Order: sequence, then structure tokens, then C-alpha cells
Amino acid sequence: MKYLDEYRDAVLANDLIKQICAMTTQRWVLMDVCGGQTHNLVRSGIETALQDALEIIHGPGCPVCVTPSQVIDFAITLSQRPNTILASFGDMLRVPGSHESMLTARSAGGDIRAVYSPIDALKLAIENPSKEIVFLAVGFETTAPATALALLQAEREGIQNFSIIPAHVRVQPAMEAIVQSTDNRVQAFLAAGHVCTITGYQSLESFSQTSRTPIVVTGFEPIDLLDGILHSVRLLEANEVRVVNRYARNVQRDGNVSALQTVESVYEVGDRSWRGFGNIPSGALVLREDWKHYDASEKFAAYIPAQIPDDQRCRAADVMAGRIKPMECAAFGRDCTPESPLGAPMVSSEGACAAYARFQTTLITPLDRPE
Ligand code: SF4
Repeated sequence: MKYLDEYRDAVLANDLIKQICAMTTQRWVLMDVCGGQTHNLVRSGIETALQDALEIIHGPGCPVCVTPSQVIDFAITLSQRPNTILASFGDMLRVPGSHESMLTARSAGGDIRAVYSPIDALKLAIENPSKEIVFLAVGFETTAPATALALLQAEREGIQNFSIIPAHVRVQPAMEAIVQSTDNRVQAFLAAGHVCTITGYQSLESFSQTSRTPIVVTGFEPIDLLDGILHSVRLLEANEVRVVNRYARNVQRDGNVSALQTVESVYEVGDRSWRGFGNIPSGALVLREDWKHYDASEKFAAYIPAQIPDDQRCRAADVMAGRIKPMECAAFGRDCTPESPLGAPMVSSEGACAAYARFQTTLITPLDRPE
């Protein structure tokens, strides 16, 4: 297939749905790892179309959602510091911290700017030499190369009024934590195609074997998703445990070597607390020792606020570990709505709760249901 429309073809989609339904001998449990996949599965009606054949649960693939509230509180505190501009992706602005979101803090006077990339934040530093520019660097392995490039440019040009709050996280350790939990229900993973575009899938192969869990690297369009599900079911029905790459138009086994080298020049693997999950060993990218002068949590350590427990009504951790669907959270649609969110998954464009709030009640489906 060459064109995007072909990945949304209703006839092909219905054929794949029929194949999947015909193939399943038991109701397998699949986890989509990426929030973008979650949104497209719910929006396209695929999840509903397949609900009698298998269960799709949603994983931790929303980097905004797993950013601890203490990190957001820190960003807000810095934005209130004199001569300081806090820059972040727009998605982060509405995510609640312990007391308020960055959007609320901005309306109260904090200097908070939405940017499209870390390079945009670096430009702010170049244009405002008398101010400190702090970029809240959130994202999976997908966005880490851009942050690394901004730091390399800053170093090259001797820009000293630029720093980042390092909040990049790694997907595979979270998948490992999920399968190791005593209440794990995942029988196969749809791995996030965009993350694998950077990381490749070599390390998933050993994880698949040790956890005895088939993994299919999957894209994002309806046909990609159905194809990933079809191959997952095929592996499960054949009792085969291995990694299958069904996003070969973007993903190589070794990943993007150049992007990985860029990331490794400034970052190393470290532990980090994920919102709702607690500490995930090796679950983060942290700045290397000789890049710590760009780490805002070192540069402005005195501004790090105390950690405050998240709102106990929010069951984001259960949603992101696939233990419950968003509607099973008592706050869903009542205390927590897209207009007035309690937790990050209701805000983020990749959050599972936002997907159900937007699409599940007024189901938009381009696919005709199979007979
Ligand atoms: S519906 Fe709201 S409160 Fe419940 S888990 Fe989702 S974000 Fe948290």
C-alpha cells in the first residue's frame, strides 16, 4: 500500500475483522501499548467490532500521563521565578499537578509557553539572553532525539540560559513491569510502532521469550491495527512466542541507529517514578554526568517542591496497567471530564480516558460492521 487512504479502507478492514473473528478459539487479551493506538482503536470502532472475539486493554503508552505531578509542580514553580520562561508541549499544559495545571498557573501570571519542539525552546533561549529558559522534556524514546539535538546545539553554541526538566521515559521497562505483576492479564502486546522506529525491536525479542508473551510491532491506522491484531491472534492460536514486525515501512530491527547515537551522547538509562506506577527500574532516560549542567533539577534544585499524593479518586494507574477500562473508574464522566479532568489520562491527546470520553459514547466508525 502506498497511500494513507488505503490504510483506512473499510472493505479491507471488514475482511480483516472477519478473519480475526473466524480465527479466535478463545477470548484472548491483547494490550495496545501506545496511546495513539488506543485512540484509533476506540475512534475507528475496531475495539467494539472485535469485542466478542477478544479483549483489547490499554497500556501505559502516554508519556504525558505518566509524568509525576511533582514534575508539573516543579515546572509551575519555575515559571513563577523572576526572569524565567517555562516551555512545554501544549499537551502538558492542561495536565493537573498537585494543585493546578500549567494552564491555570499561566493565567495566574506564570510565564509558560507552548512549543512544538525542543529546538523552539532553545530559540526562546537565544532570543531572550537575559532570561532562563526551562524546557519540560516529556516523551518516550520517540521524542528524546529532538531533545538531545537541542542540547547538543546549546552546547555547541555555548548557550547557558537553557536547561531541561528531564522527563523522557522508556516503554519496554513498563511492559516488563506489567507482565511481572501478579494480576497481569496481557497475553500479547501490540508494540508501539513509533517507539520501535527509534529503538528497533531487538530487545523486545528477549523480553518476549522471557515473559512468554508474543509481541507484534504495530502501526496506527485502522488497517495497521487490525493487521497487528490478526498477527497477534495467529501467534496466540499457534502457541508461538516471538516478535513479528508488521510496521516494516518504518521499523527496522536495529532501529534508527543515528537517532539512538544522538540520544546516547547525552542520555543514559536510569530509574524514575512514573505517575501512578511508582518506581520503574530503567524506566527513564537521565542526563549523563557531563550534561548535568543542563538539568534544571540540578540548576534549580532549591525550587523542587515536596511530593504530594495524587487524588485518590483517580485510577489512572489501573487504567494504564490494563486492570480496568476508563468507564470502570467511578469518577469517569462525573467528577472527571475533559473539561474538568481529575487525572492526566482524561487530558492528554494520548490518554485512554480521553479516548473513551471523546469517542465511545458517540461512536464514530468508518467501518461497516461485519455480518
Ligand atoms: S476517568 Fe479521570 S479520574 Fe478516572 S482514571 Fe481516568 S483520568 Fe483518572
